[in-house]
Amino acid sequence: AALLTVQGPGWIKLTMKLMASYFLDFAWLLRGRKTSRKVCTGAAGVARLWYSLKKRDIPLWTESPMVALLDEEGRVVGAEVKKQGKTLRIQARKGVILAAGGFERNQAMREQYLPKPTSTAWSGGVETNTGDAIVEGQRLGAATRLMDGAWWCTTISVPGEPAPRLSIMEKSFPGSCVVNMNGERFANESQNYMAFQKDLYKVHTDDNPCSPMYQIFDARFRRDYIVGPLMTAQLKPDWTIPKDWFESKLVGKAGSVRELAQQLGINADNLEKTVEKMNGYAKTGKDLDFQRGDSAYDRYYGDQRFQPNPCLGAIDEAPFYAIRVDAGDFGTQGGLATNPNAQVTKENGEPIEGLYAVGNCSAAVLPTYPGPGSTLGPAMTFAYQAAKHLSGFKD
Ligand SMILES: Cc1cc2nc3c(=O)[nH]c(=O)nc-3n(C[C@H](O)[C@H](O)[C@H](O)COP(=O)(O)OP(=O)(O)OC[C@H]3O[C@@H](n4cnc5c(N)ncnc54)[C@H](O)[C@@H]3O)c2cc1C
Repeated sequence: AALLTVQGPGWIKLTMKLMASYFLDFAWLLRGRKTSRKVCTGAAGVARLWYSLKKRDIPLWTESPMVALLDEEGRVVGAEVKKQGKTLRIQARKGVILAAGGFERNQAMREQYLPKPTSTAWSGGVETNTGDAIVEGQRLGAATRLMDGAWWCTTISVPGEPAPRLSIMEKSFPGSCVVNMNGERFANESQNYMAFQKDLYKVHTDDNPCSPMYQIFDARFRRDYIVGPLMTAQLKPDWTIPKDWFESKLVGKAGSVRELAQQLGINADNLEKTVEKMNGYAKTGKDLDFQRGDSAYDRYYGDQRFQPNPCLGAIDEAPFYAIRVDAGDFGTQGGLATNPNAQVTKENGEPIEGLYAVGNCSAAVLPTYPGPGSTLGPAMTFAYQAAKHLSGFKD
C-alpha cells in the first residue's frame, strides 16, 4: 500500500500485476454477479462470518435496533428490539452478547466524556453507533472504563460525503506539515495517528486552538500524492476541484505561503517561519522540533526517494495548497467493563449474569496503539470467548 500511495519505484508494475491477477482470474469472474466476486481484506472477513451464519440458518436482522435489555432477578434474559415499526421481546436462553459499537455518533455523550473540541461530524464511525448498549448496560449496574478515550484519527470532512475520510498516510509524506491556526506545528505528523491526536489534545487551548488544523503542501506534493479527496494533480487537476471546497475553506490555494495563510485565517508570519524551518529540516534530515522521520514507524509511510529523511521534503514550489483537517476518530474506546469471558461486570468485578459485551461497546483491552488491528482483533477474540462461555465449549 505504501508503495502505491507514494507511487514509488515499481508502482506501475505492481498495479499492473494486481489488476492482471483480478481480471485474468476467469474462474472467479465467471462465478456470478460483480458483487459476488472476489472479496479481499476486511470484506473477506465479514463475508466468511456471514457465510457461517447462512450455513447454519441463523437469521440476521438489519435495521432492528435493541432498545432495552430484559432482566429478571439480576440476570439478563433477553432484549427488546424494534423491527419494522413493531417492538419485539426476544427471549435469550443463555445470554445476550452486546456488539453495538461505541458512542461516537452521540453528541451529548461525546460532550460528557471526551476531550474538547469534539463533534459527531468528525467521526468515521457508523451513524448508528449512539452508545445504546453502553447506556443499557449502565442501567443494569455495569461499570464503565476508559470513557474519555477514542480511536483518535484526524479526518477530512468533504461536503456531500456521508462520513469524513481518515487522514493518515498523507500526513507522513515528505513536503508537507500540519499547522494550527497560529501557523505552528504541534506534533510529529508521521507518528501513528492515535499519538498525533493525543499530542494535539495536550497543547490545544482556547488561545492555541489546534482543531481545525491545516495540512500545508506545495505543487510538487500535489503532483505526487493523494491528499484526502484530492487525487494527484494529474488525475484531479485544480480546475476540477469543486468551488465550494474553496468557499468553505476546506481547500486553499495561493501563489505564496503568506497569501495562503491570509486566505484561510492562519497567522501568516508564523506560517512563513514554520515553512522556512521545514525547508531547513528537509536539507539536514533532522526535525529539531518533533523528530519526524527518526523512527522506523514514521518512515514506513515516507517516500524513499527523499533522503536523508524520507518523511521530510521542501515546501517551496508555488502554488501552495492547504487542506482542512479535524480532530476526529473512527470510534470510541470506552465502554462496559468486562472480564476475560467477555461478561459485563459491575464495579466490584462481579459479572452480570447473561450479559456479554464485545468490540467498542466494551472498554478497550488495547487502549494505546500497538498497531493496526487493535480494535477488530480483540473484538473477534472476545466474541469467541463469549460464545465459548455461553455454550460451555472448552478448547
Ligand atoms: C475507515 C475505517 C477504517 C478502519 N480500519 C481499521 C483497521 O484497519 N483495523 C482495525 O482493527 N480497525 C479498523 N477500524 C475500526 C473498526 O472498524 C471498528 O473499531 C470496529 O468495526 C468496531 O467493531 P464493533 O463491532 O464494536 O462496532 P461496529 O463495527 O461499529 O458495529 C456496531 C454495529 O452495531 C449497530 N448498532 C448500534 N446501535 C445498535 C442497537 N441499539 N441495536 C442493534 N445494533 C446496533 C450499528 O449499526 C453497527 O452496525 C476502522 C474504522 C474505520 C471507520
